[in-house]
Amino acid sequence: LIVSMPIRMEDGSVKVFKGIRVQHNNARGPYKGGIRYHPNVTVEEVTALAMLMTWKCAVADLPYGGAKGGVVCNPKEMTKTELERLTRRYTSMIYELIGPLVDIPAPDVYTDSQTMAWIMDTYSQMKGYQVPEVVTGKPVSLLGSLGRNEATSRGVAISVRETAKHLNKPLKDAKIAIQGFGNVGGYAAQILHEMGAKIVAVSDSKGGIYLPDGLNPYSVMEHKNRAGSVVGFDGAKTISNEELLTLKCDFLIPAALENQITAANAERIQATAIVEGANGPTTPEADKILHERGVLVVPDILANAGGVTVSYLEWVQNLKRETWTLDEVNSKLESKIVSAYSSVVQTARKYEVSLRDGAMLLAVGRVAEAIKLLGIWP
Ligand code: GLU
Repeated sequence: LIVSMPIRMEDGSVKVFKGIRVQHNNARGPYKGGIRYHPNVTVEEVTALAMLMTWKCAVADLPYGGAKGGVVCNPKEMTKTELERLTRRYTSMIYELIGPLVDIPAPDVYTDSQTMAWIMDTYSQMKGYQVPEVVTGKPVSLLGSLGRNEATSRGVAISVRETAKHLNKPLKDAKIAIQGFGNVGGYAAQILHEMGAKIVAVSDSKGGIYLPDGLNPYSVMEHKNRAGSVVGFDGAKTISNEELLTLKCDFLIPAALENQITAANAERIQATAIVEGANGPTTPEADKILHERGVLVVPDILANAGGVTVSYLEWVQNLKRETWTLDEVNSKLESKIVSAYSSVVQTARKYEVSLRDGAMLLAVGRVAEAIKLLGIWP
């Protein structure tokens, strides 16, 4: 569904924004997937991301299909009121498409728990009663789940830990470079730092910083909140996003946008393993080069499945009108990711393919089985 949304801006003018929601497959359950606000959003991108959600939910063995939403806008140049109007208008225009048992949105690039609260309120106002389970990633005080904010990052960190085990390498003092310091990269740096790893470099859209002895990600977060970017962090060397990707390190975590590791830089990647925090950060051409060079790639549909996993836990809590403790949420997340990781490794070993192909075989197999068993109606 593509919608045109007229929004009244602060200066009194009216701007028309393009909104998109793509539903890919619902054989295993309701459509599920985030909504991103970004100037480069296109129908093709959202479609690809919707398909990735189908495979991700299947790999994590969640009872969901895949969807994605997007609005072409630059949230950095908009006021909070403009973003609220845009979100409410978008919700009202995709209203017929979404619903707690139909299609459940969530946060993605440049959307957050406040965005989800507006979606929940708009949908609920239109229904006439409160429907928290129509959206996940809500604020904790508005029926969101404890641990949802950091869930994608926690899943990425667990994937890094499992990869270290898989490679027979200690996680302690492992050198980690992270591209992106937002919803995913920011908390992943903190959780991995807590696990004993060394965060040697991080970046955001304005550039990167490098400190071979390891950065304190909490201080970097404070600096970013103050200065608007990680760049300029005291004592660290300034590097470009491109330099970050090709740094010598144990784990490289692309946690920004898609198509970052390409045929143009894949030859120069020096990391032992890449753990994909973002969706689609590696192009198929780069994937092939990395595979030939023996760089292990832990694919997005496994590595970043922590977010949608806790979205599922939030949805179940909402449907049951229950609230679980952080320990309960985190231990369910942990077991889901560890079991998905081991199923992917087993599938890859069985067919002698990469982890990405193993994850795809597992995911497509599960979806195909559901489609076959459902049969054709009538
Ligand atoms: N946007 C996140 C993702 O790409 C989360 C989706 C969700 O929780 O539904 O996985």
